[in-house]
Amino acid sequence: MITKETVDRIIGFDGDELPVVSLYAGMCAGDAGSLSTRINSMLHEIRPLAHDGSIGRRARMSLRGDIERLESLEDTARLESGTLAVFSCTGQELFERVVLPRALHDRIVVDTAPWTRPMLGVLEEYHRSCVVVADRRSAEAWELYQDEMRQIGKVEDPALRKPNFAGWYGLAEHGVRNRADDLARRHYRNTARMLAELFRTGGHELLIIGGHPEEVPNLVEFLPRPLRERLAGTFAVDPRTATPADIRHGAERIAERYERDEERRWVSDVLDRAAEGRPAAIGLDDCLWAGSVAAVQSLLVQDGMAVPGVVCEESGWLATAGDVCPLCGGPARPTSDVLNALAEAVIDEGGRVEHVLADTELKAYMVAASLRFPLPPRPERSAA
Ligand SMILES: [Zn+2]
Repeated sequence: MITKETVDRIIGFDGDELPVVSLYAGMCAGDAGSLSTRINSMLHEIRPLAHDGSIGRRARMSLRGDIERLESLEDTARLESGTLAVFSCTGQELFERVVLPRALHDRIVVDTAPWTRPMLGVLEEYHRSCVVVADRRSAEAWELYQDEMRQIGKVEDPALRKPNFAGWYGLAEHGVRNRADDLARRHYRNTARMLAELFRTGGHELLIIGGHPEEVPNLVEFLPRPLRERLAGTFAVDPRTATPADIRHGAERIAERYERDEERRWVSDVLDRAAEGRPAAIGLDDCLWAGSVAAVQSLLVQDGMAVPGVVCEESGWLATAGDVCPLCGGPARPTSDVLNALAEAVIDEGGRVEHVLADTELKAYMVAASLRFPLPPRPERSAA
């Protein structure tokens, strides 16, 4: 699982003037060439640097260490889809590998800091949810992220035992009940405190609560307002008997519903924006042109679509067809999926990409974008 600590460690890494190698290797079903072959050919690009006398000895030694570790990466064969991202700076003991859920194109970058933008662009799409399953005396917290769930916290408070010896028979029944309610309240308060702490450190965006339907509202009442605002939904489950799979199933349904609702809001926002004459691009041609001129602030892509097209590596021009780039006159390279190239270009320029699964008007347009500035006129398509 990609934890927030890992991501923070990579983002906050300071190489102290040593070079950092960032490598991305994307996998698609049916990709030709093994991952390790492609990684080796990328390493080939940076090998000369490791022997370049014009950079310091410490930097060279660190780079050689990076290359060695990247050459001997294990388990790469098991990766079937997504992108393997590795960040390495041997001289400062950084070596982090992360598997991203979407395919990005291969690249290797050597710089003074990790090249994190492609990774962050992909991860931004996924919500990190905190799932808590609670009853009157116990609570367990889980983190749900992408397709994985792990336990992150637990609260166990003493429950009131039934008095079972002579002498207590006289105690008014409602007194026992009040005492039990006090204990339950204390437990909910402790649970809310644990959740606040988890949210403070864990980077969670959504809160999902599972439990007995008659008990869950009691916990919700104890949540501080910022947490209540993150509550994506609740689900019914028996905390005593629920398996992790039951919890995950219930929580995933809530997270999915939340995500589809969110997608519908985004789509109607961008369509409103276009209708009001504010900078926006609707449909493939305008979005590709907007991506070519780095105008895209946020891009919505109907999930599961792939459209063949062309790309100019030199100028970043993207289109559905053409042999010659109208921006620089260079040759355009065909690509099997120009939407993917567009998404990567948007992330590289600091924009945001969201894939939409919900059934919305976007289906008819395939892509839509909020722009940073109005779209400039398109160049005449040059006759090839
Ligand atoms: Zn060009």
